[in-house]
Amino acid sequence: MKSNQIVHLLNSLIMLFTLPALPYAYDALEPFIDTATMQFHYGKHHQTYLDNLNKAIAGTPHEGKSLEELVAAAGTISPAVRNNGGGHWNHSFFWEILAPKAGGTPTGDLTKAIDAAFGSFDAFKEKFANAGMTRFGSGWAWLIVKDGKLEISSTPNQDNPLMDVAEVKGQPILGVDVWEHAYYLKYQNRRAEYLSAFWNVVNWQKVAEHYAKAK
Ligand code: MN
Repeated sequence: MKSNQIVHLLNSLIMLFTLPALPYAYDALEPFIDTATMQFHYGKHHQTYLDNLNKAIAGTPHEGKSLEELVAAAGTISPAVRNNGGGHWNHSFFWEILAPKAGGTPTGDLTKAIDAAFGSFDAFKEKFANAGMTRFGSGWAWLIVKDGKLEISSTPNQDNPLMDVAEVKGQPILGVDVWEHAYYLKYQNRRAEYLSAFWNVVNWQKVAEHYAKAK
């Protein structure tokens, strides 16, 4: 067993959350998401949410609960669990719906569902990007399944649609981080350019898997 696997095993035995492996190299999403952004975003920002989540639940009745349980009750536990549990869930989800040599268009059932909900793939992309653009300050835009149908929503800070506090609740199948830390090193204040580049690295296969489970 490798040392990082031993650390992972020990942490899981004492119920600490751990950083999931990034499913590709830091430079794999170039030129759309740059290497430095990935290094800081995954290695520093996500790690900090994770460390603060572990600190927030240590020695409390919430230690040992799953991340999903913590997120679902985030509004009743504490601001630290809401912010950092959300941060850990959101980023773990985000790395998985990105991939190198990805983008393009969704296929199969998901295409039909997008057309049914939004009229066309282009209309969906415009509405999703608009949700990201109009989120004031920091937060996320989401494509969710709600009552069997697709909807677009957005959340502030590290909230997400699984939380008890979410204005619009549902199961996320795609999300985009619109915190400045997600794009500032490459795009500075040009959030629209980042959101446009994002489509080149969407892992539609993973989004379709999420959709198949959620619908
Ligand atoms: Mn982020």
